[in-house]
Parts: sequence; structure tokens; C-alpha cells
Amino acid sequence: MTQHAVVIAGGGPTGLMLAGELALAGVDVAVVERRPGKELVGQRAGGLHARTIEALDQRGIADRFLSQGEVAPAVGYGWVRLDIGDFPSRHNYTLGLFQNHIERTLADWVEELRVPVLRGRDVTGFVQDDAGVDVQVSDGESLRAAYLVGCDGGRSLVRKEAGIEFSGVEAATSCLIAEVEIDGEADWGLRRDELGISGLSRMEDSGTVRAMVQERQVGHTDEPTLQDLSEAMVAVYGTDYQIHSPTSISRFTDAARQAAAYRRGRVLVAGDAAHVHSPVGGQGLNTGVQDAMNLGWKLAQVVDGTSPAGLLDTYHAERHPVGARVLKTTLAQTVLLGGGERVDALRETLSELLGMDEPRKRIAGMMSGLDIHYDLGDGHPLLGRRMPDLDVEIAAGPLRVYALLHDARPVLLNLGAPGGLDIAPWADRVRLVDAAYAGTWELPVIGEVVAPAAVVIRPDGHVAWVGDGTDAGLADALTTWFGPPAAT
Ligand SMILES: Cc1cc2nc3c(=O)[nH]c(=O)nc-3n(C[C@H](O)[C@H](O)[C@H](O)COP(=O)(O)OP(=O)(O)OC[C@H]3O[C@@H](n4cnc5c(N)ncnc54)[C@H](O)[C@@H]3O)c2cc1C
Repeated sequence: MTQHAVVIAGGGPTGLMLAGELALAGVDVAVVERRPGKELVGQRAGGLHARTIEALDQRGIADRFLSQGEVAPAVGYGWVRLDIGDFPSRHNYTLGLFQNHIERTLADWVEELRVPVLRGRDVTGFVQDDAGVDVQVSDGESLRAAYLVGCDGGRSLVRKEAGIEFSGVEAATSCLIAEVEIDGEADWGLRRDELGISGLSRMEDSGTVRAMVQERQVGHTDEPTLQDLSEAMVAVYGTDYQIHSPTSISRFTDAARQAAAYRRGRVLVAGDAAHVHSPVGGQGLNTGVQDAMNLGWKLAQVVDGTSPAGLLDTYHAERHPVGARVLKTTLAQTVLLGGGERVDALRETLSELLGMDEPRKRIAGMMSGLDIHYDLGDGHPLLGRRMPDLDVEIAAGPLRVYALLHDARPVLLNLGAPGGLDIAPWADRVRLVDAAYAGTWELPVIGEVVAPAAVVIRPDGHVAWVGDGTDAGLADALTTWFGPPAAT
């Protein structure tokens, strides 16, 4: 039986990000992926939000994505455009880039990190015991791992087999997305009717058409067919434009469900396996990638014995509320996408409200992910929030803070007197960097905050401790997040 410290079921964006995070931490990880190759057929996510781009920047790979897409200084909220160009982030924009490009780029990164990806194989079941998990794979092989993570999408086998409840709100709308051929012209662009938004567009460099068409009926359980698409188009456009030669047809709904627990013993779930909802607002892939970044370093520390298994419970405690908020905001947005005079009136009223500065910042902070705040207790506003990517000075010269996170290790950034903090018992795990910064500290949505004397930055870029010029609480924070002190 082949052994790995961690097996990941599913090599979509979440599984790939998690694999990269674990590999950076030196963990022996393998991915089992159903699809035979790196390519994703069909269209799904269309871009990355600011916080996800920051997260990729923390690993030094944001440029790989930025170079392929187009940026716009705004987010959408149920058809309302909200400017984020004034947000204090190096990436105060949204990147337009289709999921197939995002996945290929992540897969290339994971390949560079030498993670084995067992393609063309399914995880078909598992049995966990006190010491690990036996994972059955469709080629007949069994893998033994200390932990199994289900990143296997909305219909997650791992979640189901772990007996994790997945409840929520039933679908009220159903939509087909497809890539098909249309000979001649069609009614290009977006249109709205009482069921929501439909749209037809030509793909960049081919005659293929991307179609997104609302269906009259909800509750289909079969795989969608060309006939289903044709019927839906006739209902919306009065014609199916004689569509033919589909390369992909899939269906999504606005059902919103979330896993009741993100961990059951040695089995965890992340990404769509933990939460599904309508694509409106473009939150799914982004939330999955950020789940992975929250879980990766924690799982690595538990696997190598640095931290007790209880650290993994902070993954649920921090990410479940984020997922629940995403479900709530997408449900609200699906209403705003509908048609009819009542919804039009609501949308106009909301647009007016979101034109005001504070509501705009509040909602845009949420949609961009820049406002995410893990509840790490009371204290300085930075505590639990993302560390800004400041330009600091260290002994060797100027440095961007995110460059310190490229290797996914924790950092104590001392902005007070050099040598003023001693973390010798954690020196094997936490890097102490003396730096100077004279500028202001500004957080998205919140605004300017008091400059801290020091911060502990977790590998996911969130602040775990804020210093006031003393080391009060520092040893406790380091123990909580990075394990007990080593004997010195
Ligand atoms: C039309 C549409 C538009 C969207 N737009 C956006 C957007 O703009 N922004 C955004 O952030 N999100 C968007 N999303 C959502 C986004 O596509 C998903 O949230 C994202 O793909 C989730 O990633 P994942 O890795 O968690 O799951 P998936 O992408 O579903 O990946 C799961 C992987 O697991 C594999 N797998 C499944 N079962 C097994 C098994 N038993 N064994 C081994 N492998 C298995 C699958 O082959 C797949 O590769 C959109 C979705 C749709 C449908």
C-alpha cells in the first residue's frame, strides 16, 4: 500500500492550491483526480477577486495569472458595479481569467513543486481509524494517509462517505451553460427576463459560442442534453439558432448548501465540497482557494507534529462563517438578477444606496474578500485580518511584506527597536524580521489604524498577534498557532 502524509481527492482549484501549500511546507502529499489531463472542458469561473490575487502574491505566483487576463477596478454585486480602485491593496481590482487558465496555471505550479497527481482515477471510498485513513482508488490501489481532504466538488464523495450533513436552500432557478456552434448571427449579449439573465457570446478566437440560458423548469436530475439547451433557447429567444456540435453543456442552479462540519476526524472538506451556491458574484473558486490557504499550513503543522490536531478545528471555526456569508450574499444577489418591475425597483434602490461611499466599501470589501476577519479575540483591528503588503525597509534594503511569505512560513515582523523581541523557543518555526515602516496603516473598509509595534503574520497572511511595544501575549499566540516552545 502506498503511503502519503496527506491524500487530496480532487485536483480542481481548491485541491491544487492545497497541494501547493502542503508541498511548500515539505509535506508528502498526493492528489487523486478523476480527469485524465490538466484541461478543464467547459466554462466555469471567470475570474479572481482581490484577496485571492493577494493570496497568490503571498506565494510569489500572482504574476502568472495577471499576465494572462485583464483587470478591472471593480466588483459586481447582483448587477451593480462597485468601484474598488480606492481600496488600499496592491491588487485593488478583479482579474478576468477563465477557470481553465486558472487551473492550468495552478497545475503547472503544483508540478514544479513535484506533487504527484494521479490523474484519470477516482477516490471510491475510505476507512479511517485512529492513526490514519485507507483511501480506495478506482484503479484498485489503496493509499494510506494520515489525513484525507475532500476537494472533490459539490457532489463530494468524501463529504458523503464521512457522513457530513450538507443542507441549505433548495434551487429556485436552473441555468444551462454550454459551448456550441451557431452558424450566422444571434442576439449577442446579455438579456434579462423574469427568470434571470441569459446570454450569448462568441469565444475569442473561434466560431464557438458561449451560451448561458435560463431554464423554465427547476429540479432536473439528468445530465443536460443539446435538446434541453434547444428548448431553453426557444423559450428565451424564440429560436435555438440551430445550435449544433456542443463541446460542453452543464447545468447550475442557485441552490445554496454548506457542510455542517469541515472536519470529521482525519477527513476534511474544502472548496465546493464544503459549500455550493449560485455563481453570481463569482465567489466559489475564490472561496475554495482561500479555504486551501487557511487549511494548508495548519494541516502541515499537525502532520509534522509541530501542533496538536486541535489546530485543525480552527479551520472550521474560521472558514465556516466565511462560507456561510458567501451563501447568504449569493442568495441575496440571485433575487436581484430576476426580472419584473418589483425587482427592477429593488435594484434601482440598492444601486442608489451602494452609490454612497460607506455602503459601497462595506459590500465591495465583502465581495473582494479584502474584509475577511477571523475572530481571534478583541484587540487591535489588525488582529485576524489580512496583513497589508507594505513596503518596509530591512537591513538588506527595501522589501515587500508579502515577499516574506513566499515560503509559507510564519513571520514575526518587528517594527520597533531591532532586537527588542526574543522568540528563541520558536526560532525553528517562526522567522523574526526587524523592519522599519514610516507610512500609514490603512485597512480596506475600516480605514486608517494605529501603527503596531510588531505583528505575527501566519502563513496565510492573517495577523495572529499585534504588539504594543511589549511582548505581552506573544508567547501565548506563538504557542496557539505554531505549537509549544522548543526546549532551549
Ligand atoms: C457557470 C459557473 C460560473 C462560475 N463563476 C465563478 C466565478 O466567476 N468565480 C468563482 O470564484 N467561482 C465561480 N464558479 C464556481 C467555481 O467554478 C467553483 O467554485 C470551483 O470550481 C470550485 O473548485 P473546487 O476545486 O472546490 O471544485 P471543482 O472545481 O468541482 O473540482 C473538483 C475536482 O474533483 C474531481 N473529482 C470529483 N470527484 C472525484 C473523486 N471521487 N475522485 C477524484 N477526483 C474527483 C473533479 O474531476 C474536479 O476536478 C462558477 C461556477 C459555474 C458553474
